[in-house]
Amino acid sequence: MSTTDEIIELSERHSAHNYHPLPVVVSEARGAWVTDVEGRRYLDCLAGYSSLNFGHGNPAILNAAQEQLQRVTLTSRAFFHDRFADFCAGLADLCGKDMVLPMNTGAEAVETAVKVARKWGYEVKGVAPGRAEIIVMDGNFHGRTTTIVSFSTDPDARDGFGPATPGFTIVEYGSAEAVREAITPDTVAVLLEPIQGEAGVLVPPAGYLTRVREICTENNVLFIADEIQSGLGRTGDTFACEHEGVVPDMYVLGKALGGGVVPVSAVVADASVLRVIKPGQHGSTFGGNPLACAVGGAVLDLLKTGEYQARARELGALLHERLRALIGPAGEGGHGVVAVRGRGLWAGVDIDPSIATGREVCEALMRRGVLAKDTHGSTIRLAPPLVISEEDLNWAVDRLTEVLDELSGTAAPAEAAEQAPVPSPRTPELSGR
Ligand SMILES: *Cc1c(COP(=O)(O)O)cnc(C)c1O
Repeated sequence: MSTTDEIIELSERHSAHNYHPLPVVVSEARGAWVTDVEGRRYLDCLAGYSSLNFGHGNPAILNAAQEQLQRVTLTSRAFFHDRFADFCAGLADLCGKDMVLPMNTGAEAVETAVKVARKWGYEVKGVAPGRAEIIVMDGNFHGRTTTIVSFSTDPDARDGFGPATPGFTIVEYGSAEAVREAITPDTVAVLLEPIQGEAGVLVPPAGYLTRVREICTENNVLFIADEIQSGLGRTGDTFACEHEGVVPDMYVLGKALGGGVVPVSAVVADASVLRVIKPGQHGSTFGGNPLACAVGGAVLDLLKTGEYQARARELGALLHERLRALIGPAGEGGHGVVAVRGRGLWAGVDIDPSIATGREVCEALMRRGVLAKDTHGSTIRLAPPLVISEEDLNWAVDRLTEVLDELSGTAAPAEAAEQAPVPSPRTPELSGR
């Protein structure tokens, strides 16, 4: 078996450098824990950017996948298969909508939403051909296709990949007034993340989603919620929009919908919207395949119990309480945390940049057995699987506290030298587990 260094060296030589991973090589995982090729264990506080809400190797999801693997895995949409109807009906029901258009990755689902909104604009709203406009937000992250990066405001994501796809207007995130001012007779949709994940877990001001919803309704504009990262339990509700009781016209889902097993994404909307797509106008060879539908169906069953949402809510309250206690100057009552944002088991933690970069904090956390990811220089993103135990969550925050004290030079030397042992994995009682 190869060592960590050998595997990393080979990967760097033969794979494009489109990521900058932490130097850990995972070989096994269960629940909230992963094990690397050297046998070291880590608490996974990223959870595949919320793709692993139900934990690694969730038994209910694995059972559904294994059973389906033995029966039929792919038919293409040229034929029906016996998993399709239940999955689509179940997902539509979860969203309170009529119809589902299944795809695979998140970016494909966003592309689908853009196409549907434009076609709806021309055929239903009556926008002149080629003039449809979609309002998007500053700081957005919706994926990596050429059209999606056309309206990114992150230079790394956008620059060098032009020419840009026209038809998008970027406004300030969190300002409903900015949305209202940007609407023209050609506006067909507003596309936003109810909480901006990649931007650093930015929660918009209270009332923002409600006001955007009203503005969309008043102007006959579709409200598209990209809940790819915020949805399916992460924030303590099934959807982050629920926090304000807001129902979008189109949900864009992905990540956790595939149960951490296969890519499953979808656009969910009423028939009045999705019926604009006719045979031959959109599709995907793998979208809605039997394995995807079996896994997605298992995910829907887990969500229906409400336990995962409740867990994100309760443990999220604990997480945020403990993180807020770290706010303040290092050694003077605080631990060098500047701000904490988020909802449920999802937090963006801004570290005082004079102490360390986000990357340095994540590397130090890794050495202590916690995997997390930095974003935008000095922000750490925490999004553990929703199956994490309370003890493990506390353990992770203890490690973060130690790391911050060590990096700011405020830890007692003896304490800094002493590494807390990585505990045995603990898995709470939840249905499907
Ligand atoms: C991850 C993500 C996407 C893109 O999903 P992929 O599966 O990586 O294409 C789109 N929108 C949001 C909000 C995301 O977090």
